Amino acid sequence: MSKKRREIPVFDHPIIETHCHLDYLKDRPLAEILEQSRKVNIERVITIAVSPENLAAVRELSQLEPWVYGTQGIHPHEAESYSDEVEAEIREHARDDKIVAIGEIGLDYYYDNADRGVQREVFRRQLQIACDSDRPVVIHSREADDDTIAILQEFEQTLTRRGVIHSFTSGAGLARYALDQGWCLGFNGITSFNKAENVRDIVRMAPIEQILLETDAPFLTPVPYRGRENAPFYLPFVAEKIAEVKDLPLDQVLAQTYQNSLRTFFPQP
Ligand SMILES: [Zn+2]
Repeated sequence: MSKKRREIPVFDHPIIETHCHLDYLKDRPLAEILEQSRKVNIERVITIAVSPENLAAVRELSQLEPWVYGTQGIHPHEAESYSDEVEAEIREHARDDKIVAIGEIGLDYYYDNADRGVQREVFRRQLQIACDSDRPVVIHSREADDDTIAILQEFEQTLTRRGVIHSFTSGAGLARYALDQGWCLGFNGITSFNKAENVRDIVRMAPIEQILLETDAPFLTPVPYRGRENAPFYLPFVAEKIAEVKDLPLDQVLAQTYQNSLRTFFPQP
């Protein structure tokens, strides 16, 4: 018997999904997922590249609907597959019409799927692509606070667009540095997990002007749908949680995070 869960709330204000992996969603057809996302007022979706294998897939997905966008970049887990050819491909497409950022790139010392020295080198090389192509960056940083700060410091003068540290689970030191430097922090369903008080502390500390909403689907499904495959249409639960944790009116959270997403990924010329 399945227990009845609360339906997904639908808000008047549009929401931008700033981080998901549409090519990893397997539980139902993509067209259905996108349709249901529109029904709960998800206005735009950014699907994130992670590996040499899915750079082209993300570009194709970004052509699916006018409101679906993509990124180009190699995740730290895949750092050892980085090469001059891969770099050339990212550079070639960094300024495509529907490509809005370089990412996700960064450091992951929790899983250590790639040699840490290689991760740092690949992180730097892709930050340089962002500088050269005038694109914002989507950063993944896990258990690598000190090295993330050190490498971002190297790019303080040259990386003009900044971007987001997504699925933020790092410490207050990295949060403080990133916020001072004009980065946004991305929050997802983790904010609704019982054990994530450390993440909620960072949500409280971050100004609402520097918070982005994301799902990181298919991972990290928010309460009350934990256990199911995540999807962009669960994003209203994340917005509610941010409003609750920060003790702000939901309308203000929706309006401000929407503006933050536009400023970061869709600036007006
Ligand atoms: Zn991701």
